[in-house]
Amino acid sequence: MTEILNFIDGRNVAGAGTSIDDLDPSTGNVIATLSEASESQVGEAVEAAKRAFEAGEWSLAPIAERQAVLRRAASAIRAASDEIVELQVAEAGIIPAAVRGQLGIGAAWFDYFSDFMTTVAGQVHGQTAGATTIVEQEPIGVCAMFTPWNVPVALSTVKVAPALAAGNSVVWKPSEMTPMVTQRLAELINGAGLPDGALNVVNGSGSTVGAALADAPGIDMISFTGGHIGGAAVAEAAARRHLPCVTELGGKSATIVFDDADIPAAVRGAVMSAYGNNGEACLNGTRVLVHERIAEEFRDAFASAAQGLKVGNPRDDGIIVGPMISRAHRDRVASYYDASNGERIFGGEVHGEGFFITPGAVEVASTDCALWREEVFGPVAAFKTFFDEAEAIALANDSEHGLAGYIWTQDVGRAMRVSKAVRAGTMMVNSIFQRELNAPFGGYKASGVGREGGMHSWMNYTQTKTTVIAHG
Ligand code: NAD
Repeated sequence: MTEILNFIDGRNVAGAGTSIDDLDPSTGNVIATLSEASESQVGEAVEAAKRAFEAGEWSLAPIAERQAVLRRAASAIRAASDEIVELQVAEAGIIPAAVRGQLGIGAAWFDYFSDFMTTVAGQVHGQTAGATTIVEQEPIGVCAMFTPWNVPVALSTVKVAPALAAGNSVVWKPSEMTPMVTQRLAELINGAGLPDGALNVVNGSGSTVGAALADAPGIDMISFTGGHIGGAAVAEAAARRHLPCVTELGGKSATIVFDDADIPAAVRGAVMSAYGNNGEACLNGTRVLVHERIAEEFRDAFASAAQGLKVGNPRDDGIIVGPMISRAHRDRVASYYDASNGERIFGGEVHGEGFFITPGAVEVASTDCALWREEVFGPVAAFKTFFDEAEAIALANDSEHGLAGYIWTQDVGRAMRVSKAVRAGTMMVNSIFQRELNAPFGGYKASGVGREGGMHSWMNYTQTKTTVIAHG
């Protein structure tokens, strides 16, 4: 059985804390164990990161050297893709095709930021008589990173790649639910040529190891992707010490289908948006709003397509929806059928040895039920009809969340109006989600603070320095 180790100052170190089992959710079997890092080991990781940053071997290395390491990391991730896919399928229960796509993005972040850093230019100002003012971005220092289990490769590399590119040191606390895939990923990134201490990994649960890292003296910023409770906890820890903190949190995104939509395309898109990644993605379109004129036709086609999705062990042929990450999570997902105030349209059957639940949907009677309001993080969609554009916008905005949204219409003007009116960070028109590396991704409202991608990531991992040179 695999034993998960921490990675501190260039060495693998067994954790001194409580032991946690890592399960294969398709079978319920234990496939690895980890011993949590103790508080003092978290402190050692932060100290190592600080020493490495101050020594300058990485933080002051010429851009070409940092680029070479990032490019090697991208190649190493691609070369190990079969192994990484297998690990993530085993731990997270996501189908291999989806994991391959996520891995492609994970490697691409390293190539992207190795190009990006050559394009970053400072500013020169001359408004002050007899002086020239230079504004530059500098690495911020020790970056504390917290990442989730649902898309472990792409959502950690979106943080680690820009942070390292900018010259920072990293202490990374991956999810305790997917430690094998993140351990392998860290080995590959470090093996690309980082000096000791530039990348450190501490493993364990959020409430112990995560909390210790967020509170550790010596960190210079926090970057968190996960749920609202953990996000609020690290944001509070950051606020106590005036540290910058980026939070990428949950969503309850609306798919809005107008009566002029290409219905077969909208059905395919809505089904994938609701149930892709097992319904365990922050950007799933889990509230499906349909114009009343096409509601019945759309609902029937959606139900038939969703019921055709094969559920089972993601290693088997043709499977689209795998198990939930844990038994407790599967039971929580199932409980939302009782927490809704409407008619179950289909689905929600719990079955098998693993943590399986079939995709399902409920037509909610009103928006004041938990299924409409809360992020379920499983394959359950809440349906509601609307009668005009204004009502569609009002329903989409009737949420504490604001991460993404999906609009299906053939009217470009309407697509623009609705996109501008919906309070969410990313809107897709006639498309399932697509990740553009240059573009920011992040949430309005309770979906988080800050953005990741392109220049936005660069700003997250740098400080702004102004230097005024008098010469008058
Ligand atoms: P989670 O909040 O339980 O955990 C995320 C990470 O934070 C893990 O490493 C965890 O151990 C750690 N953590 C948890 N509580 C902590 C605390 N009090 N202090 C410090 N660290 C803590 O989330 P999860 O279950 O791993 O992931 C699912 C959630 O992540 C969903 O809500 C989903 O929407 C969200 N998510 C958001 C995005 C985005 O980009 N907005 C992307 C993926 C997932």
